[in-house]
Amino acid sequence: MDRPASQAAAVETIGRLIARAEQMRLAGDYRAGCESAQQAAELAASIGDVPRQADALRSLANQLLRIGRQEEAITACRTAVAALETIGADATICEILTLEAMPLRDLGMHEEALEALARAREIAQALGDRDLLYWVHNRTGVVHGSMGDHELSNTYLSQALTMAAGMDDEARFCILNNIGDNATYEVPRLRRDGEHERAQQMLTDALGWVGEALRLARAARHPFRESLSLDNYGVLLALAGDVAGAAEHIEQSRLIAVRAGYRSLESAALQHQARVRLMNGEPATAVEGLLVALERARHDGEKPMAMEILRELSDAYEQVGDFQAALHSYRDFHDLERGIHNQVAAARARMAAHHFELDNARLEAENARLEAELQRTHSVELAAANLVWRRQATEDALTGLPNRRTVDQRLPVLAAAPGRLCVAVADVDLFKQVNDRYGHLVGDEVLRRIAGVFLDGVRETDLVARFGGEEFLVALAGTDVAEARAACDLLRARVAGYPWEQIADGLRVTISFGVAEIAGPADITAGLNVADQRLYEAKRAGRNRVQAD
Ligand code: GH3
Ligand code: MG
Ligand code: MG
Repeated sequence: MDRPASQAAAVETIGRLIARAEQMRLAGDYRAGCESAQQAAELAASIGDVPRQADALRSLANQLLRIGRQEEAITACRTAVAALETIGADATICEILTLEAMPLRDLGMHEEALEALARAREIAQALGDRDLLYWVHNRTGVVHGSMGDHELSNTYLSQALTMAAGMDDEARFCILNNIGDNATYEVPRLRRDGEHERAQQMLTDALGWVGEALRLARAARHPFRESLSLDNYGVLLALAGDVAGAAEHIEQSRLIAVRAGYRSLESAALQHQARVRLMNGEPATAVEGLLVALERARHDGEKPMAMEILRELSDAYEQVGDFQAALHSYRDFHDLERGIHNQVAAARARMAAHHFELDNARLEAENARLEAELQRTHSVELAAANLVWRRQATEDALTGLPNRRTVDQRLPVLAAAPGRLCVAVADVDLFKQVNDRYGHLVGDEVLRRIAGVFLDGVRETDLVARFGGEEFLVALAGTDVAEARAACDLLRARVAGYPWEQIADGLRVTISFGVAEIAGPADITAGLNVADQRLYEAKRAGRNRVQAD
């Protein structure tokens, strides 16, 4: 009685927390936004409300990545995806994977970012949802651009732009601006490759797109976007040879950034002002500007920006004839690159640990869910049916031993445990004759008795299973080959000495074994093959024996 009421109250609280988190996000107060989103996510998880949990985690990730907590943003995304998978909410999974690509990219984990996007693309395509798909294309373009493949980046971004008919202004702004940003790299490359016509076309297009982005930003009165697109437009103008126009736009961008406190955009403007000076044949003043920009980028931990500045600084020093300083900048550039690589490796290791914990949590949640479902099944019959079903899935009906499926699950666990592991494959000798002479019912009884003999004859830590027909598997933990041979020989002798006459006059049964050691989880198939081969040798050598070498 009490439960639905408190549930409804919790849902209401979650809703309020999420609304507050989003309000904080729009106001740019990401720290406060994270706090509310985190609370909402925890509360939603505690009452098993997956859709709201995912909403809260998405808001959380969105804000974490803006305040430099990229790893936590990734974890939030992965937690959301894991939860959503239990209810099969594909569209939301797609959106969150697309979001996850951004913090992954920020950390330099480009492969992982592309993987997430590939999964997202598959879902979007399966759903036939163009709105999801163009956003995936947009992000894929951004990641390829970060990896330095601006040509591929341009392909994805252009596709995103042509695909999305009904996209809103915010989305359109992002894509337009991304295309422009990408062109600031791709145009110089095309020129270096002598493809002047294509370079010119791309530059003209990009100026058009970014011009539109700037108009959208101004119409939305969004200073961040305005500053961003002004800077972008200025860099493109510089490439088009309009130095005065470039300087003017970039300076406007810088002023907005200073006023609104967008440090990163201010540093970018400083860097680009220096770049324009360098293009204008003023390398000495360019050096000064680049040094200021470098200092800021380093201070703020903006490593990709610092790398770009160092490369330009190296060029600028070269142009003023200071080759030693040029070399020095170049070296700093490489040191930074190496530093980033090391950081990525460390982040990967940490993320892998997170992932492992998440998988465990997922398994536990699934178990808890099954358990709860079983409890909810008030009918005893249903519970009993469930139990029968579970046993059927894991046990062999004739002997009650674990079946092949269970072996496939348990052998890797045994093989991963410390200590040695041996397996034996046992096969009843001339069993066809038993069936032929005494009938199948006797044959069945023989198999049951052998199972009993085996179970009595091994330790609790060992595994006895019915492998198929008249074959059994024995896995002996903490045992080397010599010990396994001895243990199997004991089983063999007990079968041979069993009072089979009790079942049928003249009945005699023997069994043969092939034994092999398993070195680890990766060695299971090979180990079982060796055991099989040895079993075959035992048969050839006359049956009723154990072959272990
Ligand atoms: P070998 O010593 O070379 O293993 O000779 P074998 O006769 O045991 O070999 P084969 O594999 O030719 O015959 C196995 C027989 O086991 C054939 C099959 O009818 C019988 N069998 C398999 N599963 C069962 C079962 O569940 N119950 C009974 N009664 N017989 C079974
Ligand atoms: Mg056989
Ligand atoms: Mg046989």
